[in-house]
Amino acid sequence: MSNATLHHVVVVGGGAAGLELVTRLGDRLGRRGRAQITLIDSARTHLWKPMLHAVAAGSMDPGEHELNYLAQAHWHHFRYRLGELIGLDRARKAVRLAASFDDEGKEITPAQEVRYDTLVIAIGSVTNDFGTPGVAEHAVPLETPQQATRFNRRLVNAFIRAHMQDSPVRPGQLHVAIIGAGATGTELAAELHSTAREVVAFGLDRIDPESDIRIVLIEAADRILPGLPQRISDATRRLLDEMGVEVRTGAKVAEVRADGVRLASGEVIASELVVWAAGVRAPEVLRNMDGLEVNRINQLVVETTLRTTRDPDIFAIGDCAACPRPGHPAPVPPRAQAAHQQAQHMVRQIERRLRGEALLPYTYRDFGSLVSLGEYSTVGNLMGRLLGRNVFIEGLFARLMYQSLHTLHERALHGNRRTALGVLSRNLSRRTGPQVKLH
Ligand SMILES: Cc1cc2nc3c(=O)[nH]c(=O)nc-3n(C[C@H](O)[C@H](O)[C@H](O)COP(=O)(O)OP(=O)(O)OC[C@H]3O[C@@H](n4cnc5c(N)ncnc54)[C@H](O)[C@@H]3O)c2cc1C
Repeated sequence: MSNATLHHVVVVGGGAAGLELVTRLGDRLGRRGRAQITLIDSARTHLWKPMLHAVAAGSMDPGEHELNYLAQAHWHHFRYRLGELIGLDRARKAVRLAASFDDEGKEITPAQEVRYDTLVIAIGSVTNDFGTPGVAEHAVPLETPQQATRFNRRLVNAFIRAHMQDSPVRPGQLHVAIIGAGATGTELAAELHSTAREVVAFGLDRIDPESDIRIVLIEAADRILPGLPQRISDATRRLLDEMGVEVRTGAKVAEVRADGVRLASGEVIASELVVWAAGVRAPEVLRNMDGLEVNRINQLVVETTLRTTRDPDIFAIGDCAACPRPGHPAPVPPRAQAAHQQAQHMVRQIERRLRGEALLPYTYRDFGSLVSLGEYSTVGNLMGRLLGRNVFIEGLFARLMYQSLHTLHERALHGNRRTALGVLSRNLSRRTGPQVKLH
């Protein structure tokens, strides 16, 4: 039930940052009637984005991990509205949402306005195709669970088609080109390498994984994982080489075509499937947020308090925010750990705001980076005051740390008991079915 006298906090975007934020705000303020909390998202369910490469490769069933916003809202004392943010009226303190429609084109929710006292924008990021021709038509991005599922279906179909055809596998057939060797592209390449072999092992014996399947990872920079320390990049490259994933660095993509990828050098890499995993920018809609300041890649510019520079009632967190990092030339990086930290900080900011206290600056703490190479290994570095230095890790320990990142997110959403039950039930159900998605 809405209460017009209560302070209304509206959070747009229920991803790594926004969903943790509304869950905590609901538990701390909504439950006690101290504020009304509303989450708006254009989707109905949440899936932690760092898992999308596993969905695309088929090693994870999104249905097992998706969280329904309506249910979460019911359990944690906030309201959920289905809707896509398309505009903002700062004078009237209202966000504008587009109407939503079902598959048959029938309206589900009308175009509407939602009023706020405090607005937090957390709509994440999308990949940046830098205007490269053919990307929209021929490449699949990995921004949503739907796109990851679509890619996986294309992959399985490609295997079934190749298995059923009378002629031998053609050049370029069963080849996958992944453009962008950041964490997403690199993890996808490694995960695909093992899941492709598992799919083939389910009776598609006319395909020879060693000679027919080719995975090419293409990167414009001179090394893979250009945003991470050199040592992680080198160790990951060594593992990819051992697996037989082909890595092309210093290779700029000029065009994506129906039959593959053309590089700036003129070389064409034939491939049936192309994934675009390069570059990050905030959604285009943020360019028209009633005069709020944005940077070159559409991120809302915020102060260290996470408040937007031109409106004291509007905040931004997660990938869509450009938050300054004192002493560093670049803002806080678009990472899950930053989203998690900013959500925690934002809870306290809103409580301070309600008490009329001054806001405090947020400081990003980099705990390191981990890159999962599926079955093969996990590599990364851990940083922190506890260790006193930057420590390189690889293997089982790194894998456990990697898994703990997701567990941390689940704990923020569900608490300890339900997280433990969820992990247990998923592990049990995985023992009764195939380890890869076959449809
Ligand atoms: C494949 C992949 C692998 C990754 N791996 C890692 C990793 O290993 N480690 C790491 O630290 N980070 C990783 N990242 C980055 C990490 O996922 C992001 O930094 C993090 O999810 C950002 O959280 P967010 O809340 O800002 O945005 P998101 O989690 O993207 O959430 C945005 C939400 O906003 C909603 N939304 C978008 N537009 C609108 C709109 N107009 N109106 C309403 N709702 C809207 C979306 O539906 C979504 O629910 C990875 C990203 C990808 C894609």
